[in-house]
Amino acid sequence: MAADLEAEVQAIDKSLLECSAEEIAVKWLQANDLQKEVYQHLAYYVPKIYCRGPNPAPQREDMLAQHVLLGPMEWYLCGEDPAFGFPKLEQANKPSHLCGRVFKVGEPTYSCRDCAVDPTCVLCMECFLGSIHREHRYRMTTSGGGGFCDCGDTEAWKEGPYCQKHELNTSETAEEEDPLVHLPEDMVARAYNIFAITFKYAVDILTWEKENELPGLEMIGKSDTYYCMLFNDEVHTYEQVIYTLQKAVNCTQKEAIGFATTVDRDGRRSVRYGDFQYCDQAKSVIVRNTSRQTKPLKVQVMHSSIVAHQSFGLKLLTWLGSVIGYSDGLRRILCQVGLQEGPDGENSSLVDKLMLYDSKLWKGARNVYHQLFMSSLLMDLKYKKLFAIRFARNYERLQSDFMKDDHDREFSIADLSIQIFTVPSLARMLITEENLMTTIIKTFMDHLRHRDIQGRFQFERYTALQAFKFRRVQSLILDLKYVLISKPTEWSDDLRRKFLEGFDAFLELLKCMQGMDPITRQVGQHIEMEPEWEAAFTLQMKLTLVISMMQDWCALDEKVLIEAYKKCLTVLMQCHSGFTDGEQPIVLSMCGHSVETIRYCVSQEKVSIHLPVSRLLAGLHVLLSKTEVAYKFPELLPLSELSPPMLIEHPLRCLVLCAQVHAGMWRRNGFSLVNQIYYYHNVKCRREMFDKDIVMLQTGVSMMDPNHFLMIMLSRFELYQIFSTPDYGKRFSTENTNKDVVQQNNTLIEEMLYLIIMIVGERFSPGIGQVNATDEIKREIIHQLSIRPMAHSELVKALPEDVLHLIGMALQEEKQHLENLSEENVVTFTFTQKISKPGEAPSNSPSILAMLETLQNAPHLEVHKDMIRWILKTFNTIKKLRESSSSSPVAETEGNIMEESTRDKDKAERKRKAEIARLRREKIMAQMSEMQRHFINENKELFQQTLEELDTSTSGDHENSPVISDAKLTALGPEQTRVAEPRQVVMCILCQEEQEVKVDSRAMVLAAFIQRSTVLSKNRNKITPDPEKYDPLFMHPDLSCGTHTGSCGHIMHAQCWQRYFDAVQAKEQRRQQRLRVHTSYDVENGEFLCPLCECLSNTVIPLLPPPRVLFNRLDFSGQPNLTQWIKTVSQQVKALHLLRNEDCASHSGHSEKMDQLQLPEGFRPDFKLKNPYSESIKEMLTTFGTATYKVGLKVHPNEEDPRVPIMCWGSCAYTIQTIERILADEDKPLFGHLPCRQDDCLTSLTRFAAAHWTVSSLSAVQGHFCTLLASLVPNEKNGNLPCILDIDMFHLLVSLVLSFPAIHCQDFSGVSLGTGDLHLFHLVTMAHIIQILLTSSTEENGMDQENTNSEEEVAVLTLYKFLCQCTGSALKEVSSGWHLWRNLKAGIMPFLRCSALFFHYLNGVPAPSEIQVNGANQFEHLCSYLSLPNNLTCLFQENSEILNTLIEGWCSNNEVKRYLEGKRHAISYARESNKLIDLPDDYSCLINQASNFSCPKSGGDKSRAPTLCLVCGTMLCSQSYCCQTELEGEDVGACTAHTYTCGSGVGIFLRVRECQVLFLAGKTKGCFYPPPYLDDYGETDQGLRRGNPLHLCKERFKKIQKLWQQHSITEEIGHAQEANQTLVGIDWQHL
Ligand SMILES: [Zn+2]
Ligand SMILES: [Zn+2]
Ligand SMILES: [Zn+2]
Ligand SMILES: [Zn+2]
Ligand SMILES: [Zn+2]
Ligand SMILES: [Zn+2]
Ligand SMILES: [Zn+2]
Repeated sequence: MAADLEAEVQAIDKSLLECSAEEIAVKWLQANDLQKEVYQHLAYYVPKIYCRGPNPAPQREDMLAQHVLLGPMEWYLCGEDPAFGFPKLEQANKPSHLCGRVFKVGEPTYSCRDCAVDPTCVLCMECFLGSIHREHRYRMTTSGGGGFCDCGDTEAWKEGPYCQKHELNTSETAEEEDPLVHLPEDMVARAYNIFAITFKYAVDILTWEKENELPGLEMIGKSDTYYCMLFNDEVHTYEQVIYTLQKAVNCTQKEAIGFATTVDRDGRRSVRYGDFQYCDQAKSVIVRNTSRQTKPLKVQVMHSSIVAHQSFGLKLLTWLGSVIGYSDGLRRILCQVGLQEGPDGENSSLVDKLMLYDSKLWKGARNVYHQLFMSSLLMDLKYKKLFAIRFARNYERLQSDFMKDDHDREFSIADLSIQIFTVPSLARMLITEENLMTTIIKTFMDHLRHRDIQGRFQFERYTALQAFKFRRVQSLILDLKYVLISKPTEWSDDLRRKFLEGFDAFLELLKCMQGMDPITRQVGQHIEMEPEWEAAFTLQMKLTLVISMMQDWCALDEKVLIEAYKKCLTVLMQCHSGFTDGEQPIVLSMCGHSVETIRYCVSQEKVSIHLPVSRLLAGLHVLLSKTEVAYKFPELLPLSELSPPMLIEHPLRCLVLCAQVHAGMWRRNGFSLVNQIYYYHNVKCRREMFDKDIVMLQTGVSMMDPNHFLMIMLSRFELYQIFSTPDYGKRFSTENTNKDVVQQNNTLIEEMLYLIIMIVGERFSPGIGQVNATDEIKREIIHQLSIRPMAHSELVKALPEDVLHLIGMALQEEKQHLENLSEENVVTFTFTQKISKPGEAPSNSPSILAMLETLQNAPHLEVHKDMIRWILKTFNTIKKLRESSSSSPVAETEGNIMEESTRDKDKAERKRKAEIARLRREKIMAQMSEMQRHFINENKELFQQTLEELDTSTSGDHENSPVISDAKLTALGPEQTRVAEPRQVVMCILCQEEQEVKVDSRAMVLAAFIQRSTVLSKNRNKITPDPEKYDPLFMHPDLSCGTHTGSCGHIMHAQCWQRYFDAVQAKEQRRQQRLRVHTSYDVENGEFLCPLCECLSNTVIPLLPPPRVLFNRLDFSGQPNLTQWIKTVSQQVKALHLLRNEDCASHSGHSEKMDQLQLPEGFRPDFKLKNPYSESIKEMLTTFGTATYKVGLKVHPNEEDPRVPIMCWGSCAYTIQTIERILADEDKPLFGHLPCRQDDCLTSLTRFAAAHWTVSSLSAVQGHFCTLLASLVPNEKNGNLPCILDIDMFHLLVSLVLSFPAIHCQDFSGVSLGTGDLHLFHLVTMAHIIQILLTSSTEENGMDQENTNSEEEVAVLTLYKFLCQCTGSALKEVSSGWHLWRNLKAGIMPFLRCSALFFHYLNGVPAPSEIQVNGANQFEHLCSYLSLPNNLTCLFQENSEILNTLIEGWCSNNEVKRYLEGKRHAISYARESNKLIDLPDDYSCLINQASNFSCPKSGGDKSRAPTLCLVCGTMLCSQSYCCQTELEGEDVGACTAHTYTCGSGVGIFLRVRECQVLFLAGKTKGCFYPPPYLDDYGETDQGLRRGNPLHLCKERFKKIQKLWQQHSITEEIGHAQEANQTLVGIDWQHL
């Protein structure tokens, strides 16, 4: 069936491709009725091309459509081959000076805080980079899609409207020139024809609603195939849709995900194809399944022809958009066609039709035609205006459609308002000609019909639908804001009239808010239900800016101001029917004054916090004085109508309400009131609430008798009684001793006095005091900073307007100056000097700093302490910076202050330590006396001894190992420096008991964390082998995956740990049953948190005494040299092989070979060594070994597996290598700079790895040793080993040395273990030298060569020549040894450093002081410590007897030959340290990179959460269904999947749109981490909310890199998750 269809499709395709576009076009050119011809063509071909099967085939469809459908149209339009026609058009075109680039989702956009007319004016990246705003205070955001670049729009920018690219075109542009003059007349006619037909066709088919008929087209070849079309809605979740589809159309989950993704993206997708019934059946299942709770999913069965034509209709719209890109003339023609009214009059143009049908179209179709509108109508200045008028006329209807539509606003045509209304000239035109302000406000009011009896808005008891509508209707306020954003510079009478008309409408709106949500004090009982308050405040907040802008407009024109003021006053009077609201008048008298007022108590009657009309009047009133209108035209103002008591009445009530709430009188009214009071004062509202109430009181008082005002105020505060009654206080205290009431009254009096202070003292509003906006802001900043120190972003948020730069913060400034100091700059900013200088005569006051210091401890300044401390701290930092840069002298006067404070700190620290020591001693004493009670006297001596030792150990210098001062220190071999290992006594963190570490005592363990690691990997693409079969014996030098062991260094008894772990496990099981939550650690995988520091751990390492001492039994006289030793060991190996074979054979009864076998002298393979360790230590050796094996190979634990010891040696080697790299990268000396925990960890790890063979199978370890040795010293038995190019020599060394005792323990010939170690080390070192020489790319031209011809150079050249000989001259010719020696030294350094660490930890020989610092001759000192000659090649000369043979063997390996022939790659040395990828300095580069990134799986779609791997630089499509893959049986997101290949489970990412670093480990662990990008104020911007320019902070990035190199990512996640439990709940694997 499918094959048939395929064949049929192919046959049709073939016939279609035979069509000639030119011929068809010619036919059309001659046609009388072009529309009929074209329609016939479309009716015939469209269904043949589109919708031939169940799944769309976009590439095939596009290709055919271009050939058969669009091709002829292009030929017709051009009148010639479009391949020539279009370029001609493009050349003749005078390109627009507007950019107009339409933004993709996630594309970076830039605005300029200095020059943009309003924040909606944005530039695309390209224009921005070529504009002057690059140097200004710009702001970047990522676009949500839609919207276009405003470059070239002179109305959008105060300065620099053009970028360099668009500037070029401006000189020649005559604005009014008709672009049609550039087109030939016949082409104009043809364009009209074809545009009219195709545009109409597209609009008709897209807005078509019938199911079995086509608009003006015949149904040709009426095959009865249908689609079941599923539409997008915002109600159902992805999961619901996926689940329903699986049921309804029997598809797999994967297919269902695919359908759902497309539906969400495009707005619709066919989910079934077939006959009507078949599709209808699926439809009813879907509807049935989704109709239970909410409205069902929208599904429609559609004829395939209709779907086909709709697909092509969309294609046509896109085509039109691209064709008009060639020529402004064509664009204008299309605009004309689109706006031409049809026969039905109003609203019959194609553009109107589309707009009005918008809410019925699916998402994909909307996107296409919105884009067309933007690239046509909005890009043509003349038609933009005409379109704006159409848009405004349809405004009400479009908004109503949008209210009902469930798509987000970005997918609605209503959203175009931002493109139109923000253009100042258009906005002005629409206000005057289309009365837009009034329209918007009226439309808004129409959608908020729910009112109370007084006609005020009522939000209580909103239904879900009303609430939804309320959310949507708020976007209209935004439109109003756009219209008002740019203020008029000139007023026409029309504008005045229309603005005032809008103002009337606005007052109507405010009137509905005046007094809304009234409240009454609750007495007796607490309220039962918190009343709804948020909606009213949402409205207030949204309107705040609009109210301010209305006032700004009024302030610009005297006539308008006067009229507005009158109107506002009238409305206020209407609101309060005079002012009494029906209350009783009363007379108050006091001290000979009397005043008439009304009887009203805030605490008893209704009061409302919403008084927008009063506050608007207050704002306008202040403007009267600011603009001096009040003095110039007093006669025009209704001053006589003003009644000051009426003006102040309601604002005063509101302030009294706040006072009473503070006094605790409204406690029973619940949180809703507390919240309202909070917002009343909050920065989001206060400007048009609290601030204006104060202004209104100031206004009122200025017109009243102050005594009258005070009396009214006392009365409203309900304090009149107290103040007017003589001896009130006395009487009160005797009669009524209710403390609460006294406290209440005290607070009320305080509040009242405070209010009076504000009324008199607050003169920072322009119009009240002689101040300007800057003064206002300055005052605000001072106030904010008096509360506490704030970061810039915090401060900006706390200010009413995001306008001005922070003025203060001088210290911060200076610090930055100093930090950015380069050599030639001299810092002239010397704030620190100024504040540390004492005052000048005559006052001679102490310096500011000195005063601050005294204030630091003043008790009455407790609240400011932090601030003062911060200043002093910052001062200190700056001082240090200055000292280090010493570019300008620092005032010495007050320098000692800070030293004192650091001295104090030291003192405190010492005191703390002493206290700890004291406690510890006390505890020991207590333990001692406890023991004394239990033990008898004969142990007394022992007690004495222990106590003394404890004393020395508590004094903290048990680190003081025997100092061997002058002797040369040697780490290994027979010459090894003998050191007496100090007794090691440690304390268990769990039971607090101390114990000595000994072979036969109870095991002590360190908490440890083992993880797989790719930090050192040189090959991240390596395919991970099957862990069950993988043989890890040889580590490849690409170090693609290693096993790292880390520890927090905390010590426990093995037994105590086991008990602790069992308890954790039991607790976790209970918790999981109860709560079903994850923890930050995975108990089932053996994870736990260190009981002391909560560091993530997954096993423990036993502490051991130096293991080598146990087996080194002989003296060192007459030791064999390397050649002899190799011979002996080879014989032993051979003997073992024979024995092994014998073992196998002995089952069949033969034992003849045993006789042939000549055992080497002193070799006793039957000897069984007694394990020296205690049971408990043995158990821990197995535990840790098994854990290393389990984690390292990702397999199930199996302590019998012969690979266990290999993994232990590997982890030891790998961990040492990582630490060596960190030290090298940080330029630290090899010894003496590791933190204790790492030092302890390496000691334990090395000793453990050296002891592990005692608990594994002896023959297995012997077998490993034989194979390892065979890689360098070949024997007949071990073939097929990796060549020396494919072995990491340090891993080989560690494995050889640590497996060697397994053979050596049976050797009684008198050879010492140390001799073996030394020979093994020399042998591997030589192999490494050969490895380096073979792979080094000696670039002789690079450096200046010195002709020294030293002994080393000559020797290495000789060796190299020998190598050339061995390899058959395949090596590059080298003439001098200078480069060779240098390369060799550099290449072998890491190996030598690792070896030094290894033997140091193995044998405990202290490092010579020379390598504890970064001095000269490190190489020589290392060699000496490692018992190597300084001239490494001497090793070869000394042992040439055997080495020549070995080298020849190594070089003859096939792989080596292939390498030398250039047929394969090999690692060269020294391997460079891995770093995280380089990040650009400017964050916008990343945003741009991410916006160009499309999802690799869904064919060119933009990824929603592009995420950058910081380890390898891969960009990923994170957090989305499209890129989920299956990993170990679970669906995981792109990031998690990537960590498994790139970071063996651990990953570091940058989420580009969020500007956030993401750490992932395994599937369940993750956390967010601050990004390494900072704005100029030193703050990060997670989520890119502020949009300040961000630049890379190298220190922060280094910190992240260090976390990675130190393998601390998992630990960091653990800490983050412990600190913030919500992180545990996130499904990290879906990212
Ligand atoms: Zn642009
Ligand atoms: Zn531009
Ligand atoms: Zn600018
Ligand atoms: Zn213990
Ligand atoms: Zn710990
Ligand atoms: Zn990666
Ligand atoms: Zn994707």
